[in-house]
Amino acid sequence: MILTYRRKGIHRIMQAIEVAGIADAVAVCEARAAMLPLILTLDMNGAPYRWVTWQHACFYYARNLVAWSAGDENLTFYGGISRATGRRSSITTNSIIAIRGRPVASRGWLQVPPLSNRELFQRDRHVCAYCGNGYASQRLTREHIVPLSQGGLDLWMNVVTACRACNQRKSGRTPEQAGMQLLYAPYVPNKAEYLILSNRRILHDQMDFLAKHVPVRESRLLRRAC
Ligand SMILES: [Zn+2]
Repeated sequence: MILTYRRKGIHRIMQAIEVAGIADAVAVCEARAAMLPLILTLDMNGAPYRWVTWQHACFYYARNLVAWSAGDENLTFYGGISRATGRRSSITTNSIIAIRGRPVASRGWLQVPPLSNRELFQRDRHVCAYCGNGYASQRLTREHIVPLSQGGLDLWMNVVTACRACNQRKSGRTPEQAGMQLLYAPYVPNKAEYLILSNRRILHDQMDFLAKHVPVRESRLLRRAC
């Protein structure tokens, strides 16, 4: 079965794959596709760049844009039977691939990743910074150490994870004003850590690769892994 997508971007990719003559190579049902792991892309220098779907990865292979691969896992997608050869077409993508072109990832290495609750809660291991208890995401809040009402900014270095009760108790005060002690310090995750935080289905080899780019001293993530 050949997949069809309504989303414009994906449709363009499928068209590009068709141009490359391997449209039949992609044959997984849509439900199964949603369960598939994302592919980690690197730039030519080997710096982690971003997650892409397997469709994107197939596009890179089809356009001969994969310079080298570094993962232990390979995902193969099977398509229809070619009339000309009688053989089933397929395309295989590695779990970690370096994309030809300018080393864009290195350039953006020092950029601060976007702040979102999901990645913030992951950074703080779903533990409230004031009472120290662990909670599910829906019971957690983004807590501004210096409140916005007192000029605090909505930045990684001014936010921690807090449960609803602690957030309400602290209210619009600083920890000192509220007499509440922070149990851990905020920090800005680097690009590699952000990639880990933003993907819940990371393969072992992808995790190992990214972990080598995360500063051990700063990251709570790696202390959890130890
Ligand atoms: Zn709490």
